[in-house]
This record gives sequence, C-alpha cells and structure tokens, in this order.
Amino acid sequence: MEKIIAAADSELWFTERMAGTGFQYSLQVAEVLHAERTPFQRLEVFRTTGFGTAMVLDGFVNVSDKDEFFYHEVMAHPALFIHERPRRVLIIGGGDCGVLREVLRHPGIEQVDMVEIDERVVRVSEKFFPELTASNNDPRASIRFEDGIAWVRNAAAGSYDVIIVDSTDPVGPAEGLFGAAFYADCHRILTDGGMVVVQSESPLFHQGRLKEIHRCLRGAGFTDSHPMTYPTVIYGGGTWSSSIARKGRPLNDGVRWDDIESRPFPTRYYNRGVHVSLMTLSGYLAPALDGL
Ligand code: SAM
Repeated sequence: MEKIIAAADSELWFTERMAGTGFQYSLQVAEVLHAERTPFQRLEVFRTTGFGTAMVLDGFVNVSDKDEFFYHEVMAHPALFIHERPRRVLIIGGGDCGVLREVLRHPGIEQVDMVEIDERVVRVSEKFFPELTASNNDPRASIRFEDGIAWVRNAAAGSYDVIIVDSTDPVGPAEGLFGAAFYADCHRILTDGGMVVVQSESPLFHQGRLKEIHRCLRGAGFTDSHPMTYPTVIYGGGTWSSSIARKGRPLNDGVRWDDIESRPFPTRYYNRGVHVSLMTLSGYLAPALDGL
C-alpha cells in the first residue's frame, strides 16, 4: 500500500506500508520525475532528498541509488563465485538492470539473457538510472521482453549455469515466479552444479514464505538451498533475503575463494567475509529451514 502525504510544512513524503506487519516507512520526495501506468503495473520515479533516485512499482520501492548495491551484489556474486566456470546466465525480471550490470562484471561470462515482462521498466531505468543501465549494450547481453515463466518452461534442458530471479513481490505477474512448477523448470534448464538465486522477501516478516520457497526448491530437486540475508533500507524494514539453491552439489563445494579475493572489479558490499556470513544460518532463521 502506498500514499503520498503532504505534511503540514508542505514537504512531500512517499510512504510504503507493509501489509499485515504494522510497519511503514517514508522517503522524502523532492520531485516526481515520472509516473505512468504500463500494461503490467504502475511505474513511478522520484528524486528523493536522502536516497537519490528511487523507482516504485505498484506502490513498492524497487530500487534506490543509495542502497541498490547491497541487493544487486548479493543477487549476482555469491553464485558466480561458487560456480567453477559460469558462462551462461539467465536473469528473470531485473528491469532496473542492476543485476545485469553486476553479472557482466565477471570476465568469464559469455552470454546473459535477461527476460523482463515489462519493457517500460527497462526504458524508464535507462533514462533515470544511468549507472544501473550502463552495461545494457554489452554484446554479451540479450534483453527480451517476455514472461519469464514461459521462458523457463520453453528453454532446453541444461541451457544455463546460473539463473537469477530478480522479481517484484509475489503478486500479479510475479506470483508464478515463486511456485514449485517454476522452480522445477529452473532445475531442468540448469547445468549440473548450476544455481538459482531468487529474491525471497523479508526474513523477519515473511518467514512462512521463506520456508515455503525452500520447501519448493528442495521439492524441485535442488540438492542444497540457503537463505542469504543482508541490509537494505528500502525493503522490509532493514533486512532482506535472497535464496540460493544448487543442482547436484552442496553450496560450499568448490567456492573460488582466490577469485573472490582477486576479483577484477569493485564491489561495495560483497567480499570474502561477506560471502561467509551470507552462507551462515542465523539462529532466528533456523526454524524456517527446519524439517526440509
Ligand atoms: N529488486 C526488486 C525488488 O525486490 O523489489 C525487483 C527489481 S526488478 C524492477 C523486478 C521486475 O520483475 C519488474 O520490472 C517486473 O516487471 C518484473 N517481473 C515481474 N513478473 C515477471 C515475470 N513473470 N516475468 C518477467 N519479469 C517479471
């Protein structure tokens, strides 16, 4: 749920309310840069006073200049440094293009297919988020405007080494991106030892959903799965999760520690110590994985 409130002193604030949690937060808006209704969702871009440019889809902040690096680095780098030689990557969703940028930083990557249902998100991001979209013309990248669910259903077995599901929350067109049938298709189209990474909601507020995601991932045939939690400001009250699952091998098998240390590109959050902490299960999350 979202609303813009004009406070008594005429300041403009955007408020995002997390349904059923008793929690909401606000960003101060300096200027509304863009607003439209696409065929799929309401798309707004704000210039904020504290978080740079922020994109809002259907009332939920999807990305802000200030803290995008936490999420985008975690979605891309752990899987790409666990895999012994990732070459072909599929991104589902990801319309702000931040995950695409991070994946293309890896020199061994040969092909990235990004399948985003809503072309308008990419075009508006190209206009307002030049840093996130800087790699869109990389010859290794192919951006398609299709439904990611159909894409994985139709893809050939063993097509990709890593799949990254950078989706909106599980409502509307993204709902099927959280289900057992989708994960089974992801498992089928991965190479052996391949991984899927999915945004898996708030580990504090949505533990039931997190557990269901891992139950479905294991049920789809993944050998190992793990929730990675990290700081955010614009999602879920300060901490968020992405979950990683591997086909045929445990997640701690073959991690390229030396390559993490000598990575030939800058990161602001991800490093060796962060990789270890992302793969460590916090006590409060143990019940979410109990009995899987
Ligand atoms: N990191 C963000 C978050 O957690 O809020 C998500 C960023 S990205 C902008 C999410 C994208 O997923 C949106 O652009 C949306 O259009 C796309 N999306 C939703 N359902 C999809 C589907 N079935 N296939 C492909 N893309 C989809």
